[in-house]
Amino acid sequence: MPLVTPCVIPMSTLYIPTLKEDPVDAEIASHRMLLRAGLLRRVSPGIYAFLPLGHRVLRKIEQVVREEMNAIGSQEILMPILQPAELWEQSGRWEVYGPELMRLVDRHERCFALGPTHEELVTALTRNELRSYRELPLSLFHIQWKYRDEIRPRFGLLRGREFLMKDAYSFHASQESLQAHYDEQARAYGRICDRLGLEWRVVEADSGQIGGEVSAEFMALAEAGEAGILYCGCGFAANVEVAAARVAPLAHEAPSFEKVATPGVSTIGALAEFLDIPQAATVKALAARDGAGRVTVLFIPGDHELSMVKAEKSCEGLELLTDEEMQAAGLVKGFIGPCGLPEGVRVVADASLEGVAQWVVGANETDCHYVGARTGEDFTVPEWADLCEAQPGDGCPVCGSPLKAARGIEVGQVFQLGTKYSASMQATYMDEDNNEHPFMMGCYGWGVTRSLAAVVEQHNDEAGIVWPVSVCPAEVAVIPLTVGDEAVWPVARGLADELALAGVEVVFDDRAERAGVKFNDADLIGFPYQLVVGKRGLEAGVVELKDRANGERSDLAVSEAVAFIVATVAAERARYL
Ligand code: ATP
Ligand code: MG
Repeated sequence: MPLVTPCVIPMSTLYIPTLKEDPVDAEIASHRMLLRAGLLRRVSPGIYAFLPLGHRVLRKIEQVVREEMNAIGSQEILMPILQPAELWEQSGRWEVYGPELMRLVDRHERCFALGPTHEELVTALTRNELRSYRELPLSLFHIQWKYRDEIRPRFGLLRGREFLMKDAYSFHASQESLQAHYDEQARAYGRICDRLGLEWRVVEADSGQIGGEVSAEFMALAEAGEAGILYCGCGFAANVEVAAARVAPLAHEAPSFEKVATPGVSTIGALAEFLDIPQAATVKALAARDGAGRVTVLFIPGDHELSMVKAEKSCEGLELLTDEEMQAAGLVKGFIGPCGLPEGVRVVADASLEGVAQWVVGANETDCHYVGARTGEDFTVPEWADLCEAQPGDGCPVCGSPLKAARGIEVGQVFQLGTKYSASMQATYMDEDNNEHPFMMGCYGWGVTRSLAAVVEQHNDEAGIVWPVSVCPAEVAVIPLTVGDEAVWPVARGLADELALAGVEVVFDDRAERAGVKFNDADLIGFPYQLVVGKRGLEAGVVELKDRANGERSDLAVSEAVAFIVATVAAERARYL
């Protein structure tokens, strides 16, 4: 649907400063192309301004998201960006959110945060006025700028410090009701992905700073994505941070428990080579400190990496030790093992190692390892936990088949929060028997600006952006080949006007530029259709329509062009509804 009253947008007056060269600091396609096509400009790291055509795209994406929220009965509100610190103190997040929270102080020395998310605000908003079970469930959403002082803002709109998010929050009297709305939100997110033309996958996720137990992320598949995904043909898919997997370490059977001299062999790769065994038959040790300050040694299969997200679950507040800290704790870097650790060290091992009878591990002595070290006999493991990051080839936790890997851009995430915020912020309702309970809550975030970049990341070629019709800056660019030509000009302008009147979004390239420049710009900006009007064609009674997506060109009789394009655009729009 067109956003505004139909009108033709003249290119000559449009503020669309395209760039001839790729901007140097733009590493990925979407960042590069949005800048080059003149849709976006950087103001400061992670902070961007949207120029007219970029703004149109942004508003369209916002509208798709809004429609899908309305369709599931979520009600639109608008909450402020500036949030009083007291609310964050009540939830306990003023302390724990860390340096990502942008904080400021007003003239009366009162502290505020620029909202990175709105759980506190929405909970405070409803806690005194949403009081009865009769008013539940309730779902509210808003589309508002968010602020996060990301440690590495990068990739343009993908990881900004200021970004537009749709965030919805729901309030319930029961887990069933929460589950039902959570499922509806997830279905709405799938529809949003489809309407934006995204190829996507929903994955199991960690709930991170937001909290809660159940969470899923919506990933737009793209090599440039920062998220690793593991998935299986059976339907299982998870963010690599949390993916459970059947990890199968190998056992290296040794005739006896024996100390082996391993001079200078301080890495797993070197150890495996030295002993001529697979890395999967060695055990890797990581030295850390848990939240209580205890030195903690974590053991995982040698061919895997530690997942900090998983390890956090069993060892809250975990931090890896520096070399100096290791030394101070009496640990020998590169040679740490479970036999003969210093007194008081906490030991946690990956659950996959529980079934491995003999370990090849460090001997807590420079240049020495043990082979044939047996659990329960030569050492004990008091805690087993899921610690290692799953990798492609590990067994699917559901069906056992080897997992496959993909990369994704997290465009949205849905969470079941339970009573995390309502309990800490005293947000309660009365049930039928006048008993007071904290609300069950859910929250549902969608990255509007990030998904704009994700669309470009998936829809581009060497010449530029290839917008899906649902979110394009305009549907058709009408390009007269000669400026001011008596024959060409009125026909081109007339076609543009007729298309606009029929509800098609039209840009009219009335600039005094060579045809080549106009074609290049139209390709770069990525209008789905280009209607080329030239003198020679008109002599034969035809104009040319180019489909940006497949490059196909077709001649249309001037008299039939408008009807044909209207029908083509309508059919294309319908694909995204
Ligand atoms: P990430 O893991 O990528 O840092 P997040 O999990 O912290 O993101 P959420 O709190 O789940 O983000 O926020 C909801 C949505 O907001 C995300 O799914 C994403 O689309 C968007 N988003 C989050 N951080 C940013 C950012 N720095 N720039 C742009 N969009 C963002
Ligand atoms: Mg997230």
